[in-house]
Amino acid sequence: MSWTKDGGLDPRIAETTRGIFIGGDWRETRGEHAIDVVDPSTGGTVAALTAAGGGEVDAAVAAARRAFDDGGWGRTGGAERARLILRLADIIETHADELALLEAIDGGKPLRMARMVDVGGSIERLRYAAGAATRMNGEAIRPVSAPNALAYTIHEPVGVAGLIVAWNFPLMMAVSKMSDALAAGCTVVVKPSENTSLSTLRLAELAREAGFPDGVINVVTGLGGVVGQALAEHPGVDKISFTGSTAVGKRLIAASAGNLKRLTLELGGKSPAFVFADADMDVAITGVFRNIYYNSGQVCAAGSRVYAHRSVYDRLVAGLVAKAEALRVGPALAEGTEMGPLVSQAHFDRVANYADGARAAGATVLTGGSRIDRPGFFMQPTILADTDAAMAVRREEIFGPVLCVTPFDDDDLEALAREANATEYGLSAYIYTTNLNTAHRMARLIRAGLVRINAGALDMAVPFGGYKQSGWGRENGTPGWQAYTELKSVVVPL
Ligand code: NDP
Repeated sequence: MSWTKDGGLDPRIAETTRGIFIGGDWRETRGEHAIDVVDPSTGGTVAALTAAGGGEVDAAVAAARRAFDDGGWGRTGGAERARLILRLADIIETHADELALLEAIDGGKPLRMARMVDVGGSIERLRYAAGAATRMNGEAIRPVSAPNALAYTIHEPVGVAGLIVAWNFPLMMAVSKMSDALAAGCTVVVKPSENTSLSTLRLAELAREAGFPDGVINVVTGLGGVVGQALAEHPGVDKISFTGSTAVGKRLIAASAGNLKRLTLELGGKSPAFVFADADMDVAITGVFRNIYYNSGQVCAAGSRVYAHRSVYDRLVAGLVAKAEALRVGPALAEGTEMGPLVSQAHFDRVANYADGARAAGATVLTGGSRIDRPGFFMQPTILADTDAAMAVRREEIFGPVLCVTPFDDDDLEALAREANATEYGLSAYIYTTNLNTAHRMARLIRAGLVRINAGALDMAVPFGGYKQSGWGRENGTPGWQAYTELKSVVVPL
């Protein structure tokens, strides 16, 4: 259990896992139902979580309901909601190192990355959402059939929101959903992944310190099929926001039909990257590399299949292979680690099976392709050539450090887009070219919610979500907070 910087058992973990957080207080209900917290850098068990059941979900929803209906969180002024959200951001900032450590131990993220991206991004995300709380404006409308009437719209909070969070960015995703929900005036029940609950539990404690009223924020840990399912079925929940697999997303649509919950679904992807002959190759190599190996490939928008013009294919492949072989893969807390382990044994097995299956089906392994022989769940950065469009590695979301590279011969954008679009997903796409016309024509042809040209970055002000089976609705930007509201129209004759 050598998971602190100096190899000792960190009491903060035990502190974090003392129960579930309902109505502003801890319930120490772990009892015999516990979930092991496994450090993916070692494979060792470091703590245990409460595996809550339907009773705890009922209690959490009741607390959130009371805070919404009776406590009046939704009627609190936007300025007050913003003040508390900003206060939480400040408190997280003072606990940044501690949260980064939890994130690194729990999910295997390199500590530096957890500090900069996950914790730093969460702080910024809260500050961005605080702004939304103060400008939830509707619009004034001039009716066309009764021109003298007055009409206007207002955004009202949808109510109690169930937030079901995946394990790849546990803190940042919980904060991202929560900050928009709170800004809009909703109360929340957060269900973190059983793989990575620690930072969300700590977040609940910090939110209490920030002064959020009891019941506004509740956190229930447990199995997805139990706690997540119960939230989705619960008549007291008005909205579900989910990040995870398309398969579970479909289950949630069925489960939430009872009271016609509002749903935001941020699901999987199989995002293509295109490198054209005129691309700046340094930008392309850096961008393609980062977009597949970042967070060990456990990113919904990972660029997992790259199509490169034959004239630049060899240079691209040589650049990617050199970078992959130089990448420092290691434990999350080790100095200099650039890529950590996969999140769990089950996920590791899944990713390794894809690589083995591709090899057996005739793919050429340009680099990697195997597990790294050490404790923990480490996979080599892998690049596959000679795959075909029917292979699982080209069609399915692998969610690991596995990239398929394919050359193309002519710049028929329609044909390229047809091939890229021939998947059930439509989350993201990457285009590398110095020709503006090619870039924007290709951006139009791709059926995906986000297109990034020449390494354009994700941004919390830019809506994010999927076409097709990559999801419903958008997070971030204006649509992000609006997804936690109902739109009311008011009409009055003058
Ligand atoms: P899941 O979709 O199973 O898990 C995502 C979240 O949903 C977790 O909090 C999980 O809880 C919860 N959940 C699971 N089952 C249910 C259910 N029946 N009702 C409500 N909530 C549920 O993803 P996996 O962890 O199994 O990963 C499998 C694959 O999903 C990955 O390999 C990847 O392809 C994709 N994925 C995509 C993500 C994205 O960012 N779009 C994120 C994560 C995964 P618990 O973990 O406790 O089971």
